Amino acid sequence: MKKHTKVWLESRGYYLPNMTPEDLDVMCEWDGCGKVVDINHIDPRGMGGGKGKDVPENLIGLSRKCHNNFEAKRITKEQMFKKVEEILHNRKLGELINQEIQ
Ligand SMILES: [Zn+2]
Repeated sequence: MKKHTKVWLESRGYYLPNMTPEDLDVMCEWDGCGKVVDINHIDPRGMGGGKGKDVPENLIGLSRKCHNNFEAKRITKEQMFKKVEEILHNRKLGELINQEIQ
C-alpha cells in the first residue's frame, strides 16, 4: 500500500490491518457520487513549506468521475481543500463526543 493511501485511510478512520485498497468500500468524498477509486493529492507538491504532501489535509478520496473533473480543473484545489477541512473537522467533533472534554 502506498504511503499516502495509508495516511488517508488512517485519517478518515478506515484503516484496518492487512487491508488492501481493493477492500475499500467508501463513497467519493467530494459529492458521494460513487465508489472511491483514487486517493488524490490536492496539491501534488504538498501544502505550505515543510509540511509535505502525504498529510491528511492534502488528500481526498475521489470517484473516477470526480477525479476526471479535478484533473480537468472543473473542481479547484481551493474547493477541495475546503471540503477536506470540513471532513476532518466533523471527524474531530465526532471524536470529542466520545472523549472526556477538559
Ligand atoms: Zn464524486
